[in-house]
Amino acid sequence: MNLHEYQGKELFARFGLPVLPGQVATAADEARDIAASIGGTVVIKAQVQVGGRGKAGGVKLAHSPDEAFEKARDILALTIKGQPVRTVLVTQAADIARELYLSIVLDRSRKLPLIMLSAEGGVDIEEVARVAPGKILRRSIPLSGLRPYQARALFQPLLRDGRQVAQAAEILLKLHRVFTEGDCSLAEINPLAITPEGRVLALDAKVILDDNAEFRHREWATWRDPDEETPGQRLAREKGLSYVRLEGDIGCIVNGAGLAMATMDLIKHYGGEPANFLDIGGSSNPEKVTAALRIITGDSRSAPAGGVPGPSSRVRAILFNIFGGITRCDDVANGIVQSLRTSPLAVPLVIRLTGTNEDLARKILSDHGLSATTSMDEGVRTVIAKAQEVAA
Ligand code: GDP
Ligand code: MN
Repeated sequence: MNLHEYQGKELFARFGLPVLPGQVATAADEARDIAASIGGTVVIKAQVQVGGRGKAGGVKLAHSPDEAFEKARDILALTIKGQPVRTVLVTQAADIARELYLSIVLDRSRKLPLIMLSAEGGVDIEEVARVAPGKILRRSIPLSGLRPYQARALFQPLLRDGRQVAQAAEILLKLHRVFTEGDCSLAEINPLAITPEGRVLALDAKVILDDNAEFRHREWATWRDPDEETPGQRLAREKGLSYVRLEGDIGCIVNGAGLAMATMDLIKHYGGEPANFLDIGGSSNPEKVTAALRIITGDSRSAPAGGVPGPSSRVRAILFNIFGGITRCDDVANGIVQSLRTSPLAVPLVIRLTGTNEDLARKILSDHGLSATTSMDEGVRTVIAKAQEVAA
């Protein structure tokens, strides 16, 4: 789950990182009131989960409450990289002498957190990463942790001033706690600003939480933004299914992540395009099958850019690919039959199943006028052909 900046800053503040006071607003007059209560210069910041808000006009200084009203009104009217701005953060402004970049990211290849640090932070960091990657220092954090002297040594050549080095090192140690105790896969501060008086501040927060840790963080539920999730993604999360929406036209419902990936590979191999990855898991539960069909059919409409969903369904055919090990094929068959009874499908359904109780499953399906193949190859080729027929 990606956090909005204001949520990331809430998390940062809990761990003692230096963030400036602020509040979110969904209307311009609210922004004016917040600016008045903060006093002085404020920054109005679009709360959308895309990078480069600054360059897109989504970050503006305001020197009075009335200016805050105007800037908030303008920013709330923006759509940044396809994301309409619904909320702005109104926060106290800082004077900036320097902007550094600091982040901790999960380095999957080394299986360790990785510190990334650059003296050239700010809105051009992507450009720095592209043209001068050497200007971004990378340092793994060993499992034994990060020592204060190591944190200071990282900043010493960049900042030199002893008090600034001490503040920045403290920030890095706290950011590491945010990362580990907060179960993040990314915790980023850009800019990590140095004020003319030598204070070091976190002026932006980008945090990605590891969804696998949700069970031990009750507060995450309040952070989840319903607008960031499609109805299908929400249903999948609630039912415990692994679901990734893709851009193709062949819906896939598979048990097991490995088989799901193999299914997508085979669809691609035969020239098709999967509409999703969906793993219903290893359990025998007809309800999951029903949910899976609802997810794929309900989440299958494609909206033209900025418009309402079109009348035509994106998914042109659906493939069930079930290898019955712990999963019982008869349970899946029952789930399919039940689901079709309550909500008939508008697109062809191809079923491949083999393994535990497959004969029983075949009987259940044929009693309801459905058939299944045991061959994955055949199932995939059939579903591609059906999707092409629908498209024609
Ligand atoms: P991003 O573009 O989405 O990463 O948004 P940021 O929050 O990083 O803001 C972009 C840029 O706006 C920063 O790099 C700063 O240059 C500027 N900015 C943000 N906050 C302040 C502030 O408090 N004071 C000043 N003077 N500039 C700011
Ligand atoms: Mn930023």
